[in-house]
Amino acid sequence: MNTTVFDLLSSRAQATPDTLAIHAHGRTGLSFAQLRDHIVSIQSSLNRLGAGRGDRVAIVLPGGPELATACLGVAACSIATPVNPDFKQAEYEVVLARLAPRIVLTLAGGQHPVRAAARALNIPVIDVVPRQGAAAGAFDLASAAPTGLTAARPGLAQPGDVALILQTSGTTSVPKTVPLTQDNLVASAGNLARSLQLTAQDRCLHFLPMFHIGGIVDVLIAPLLVGGSTFIAPSFSSAEFFRDMEDFKPTWTQAVPVMLQEILNNADAHADIVAHHSLRFVRSVSAPLPAVLMEAFEKRFKVPVIEIFGMTETAGVITSNPLPPAKRIAGSVGIAAGTQVRIVDAKNQSMNAGQIGEVVVSGANLMGGYDADPKENERLFSEVGFRTGDLGYLDADGYLFLTGRVKDMINRGGEKVSPHEVDQLLLSHPAVADAASFAVPHATLGEDVGAVVVLRDGAKATQEELTAFLRDRLAFFKIPRVMHFIDAIPRGANGKLQRAVLTERFGKAAA
Ligand code: ATP
Ligand code: MG
Repeated sequence: MNTTVFDLLSSRAQATPDTLAIHAHGRTGLSFAQLRDHIVSIQSSLNRLGAGRGDRVAIVLPGGPELATACLGVAACSIATPVNPDFKQAEYEVVLARLAPRIVLTLAGGQHPVRAAARALNIPVIDVVPRQGAAAGAFDLASAAPTGLTAARPGLAQPGDVALILQTSGTTSVPKTVPLTQDNLVASAGNLARSLQLTAQDRCLHFLPMFHIGGIVDVLIAPLLVGGSTFIAPSFSSAEFFRDMEDFKPTWTQAVPVMLQEILNNADAHADIVAHHSLRFVRSVSAPLPAVLMEAFEKRFKVPVIEIFGMTETAGVITSNPLPPAKRIAGSVGIAAGTQVRIVDAKNQSMNAGQIGEVVVSGANLMGGYDADPKENERLFSEVGFRTGDLGYLDADGYLFLTGRVKDMINRGGEKVSPHEVDQLLLSHPAVADAASFAVPHATLGEDVGAVVVLRDGAKATQEELTAFLRDRLAFFKIPRVMHFIDAIPRGANGKLQRAVLTERFGKAAA
């Protein structure tokens, strides 16, 4: 690709200097020329404070336009390493020790817990000082005392440089550290833009956390690289969503399924906005989109909901459903979006259409390898590509259907049980509103099958009834021996189901 995110933003600033790039509620918009100049000023401040090419800069800021411009500014000359602003001191100590940033950027004033953690690890903290009355995202960098550091490699980042380091969500175990290059980011943003035909006329509504990949590449870099704009909300709430829909008139947005459900639940209170919105599509990311939710959302908003599959390691999108008139399939995460996708068995042999195996991906968006984890890199990379840890199959038209994660498979005395299959059957029972199965420890089998079930309002069903229902449809070894009826299934902030957490909470030994 031989370019960088900053090069491409600069070209946009050259072509359309006064076009607004970044918006925020109650703020003046930041134009492409202002964004370019702001990035250059961040670069010279960072170089002066001792961070240059190849240096990691931790960014701990609340959601909003300053966080966005900080990420773009740092990535233009060093390595942007955004970290969740809601961690406690002990969590920062672990993360900062793992990431070893040269400096930490955080909001001026107050006693954010990252300050104490950085002090304990002897990492200089630089204040982000928002410019009063200035356009969205404008700030200065200030340090109370000289950092004593000198940037070994000042200047702008080059195409092969690492631009961004993120941690995976930690759904299956401890989060892994993922370095992504300028090339990876540019490739992924381009794949998104092409798959959904983004143009300079597009306006994105952004409310996702920027310490996850979607918040940086999908709804920040991708809209800007095509010359369009993005409106950055501090976080997600349905009230703000409807307000921003009215004020900003976005042409697209991106959410995780639990947010789409929340928006749908509140649609009636905003019927006028729902009837006159400006969206041309809504992108659903990060966790399975239930078919009923997709259908209900499309019906209520009269807009296509585009489910995609992506991960941190691929800087975002791997497959995406297409826009109409091409067909999108409920339950499928779509077709390869500028990537190569294969389904393989344990020996890397390709499987036929319809056969379930592990999803393997390659492409210019794929990371070079996890940070400081040669064992995992050795295990997951091969000539066929990168093993995603996700199971699924391709249909004859190349649509990918995910069926679960390798790590979630339940091993019942050597018989492999797909929790996804058990969930789907439980969900097909008329009394069941939600269900999730998981491994429970078993004295002789190693693991057995457990499930938590949420019943529909007013519905009744016992474990015996559900077991009888499953017995007609599933081999005996797949039937949950342990079943708990609960009010709601715990899911992570981004809507992800952590089956290991269910094992911990509900997995009393089965025998
Ligand atoms: P960790 O790797 O630390 O266990 P994680 O895999 O959840 O956490 P991310 O990189 O944020 O971390 O998420 C990528 C994963 O999210 C994918 O590998 C896949 O399992 C899941 N995922 C993404 N999109 C979808 C989707 N549309 N449907 C189902 N699962 C999805
Ligand atoms: Mg993962």
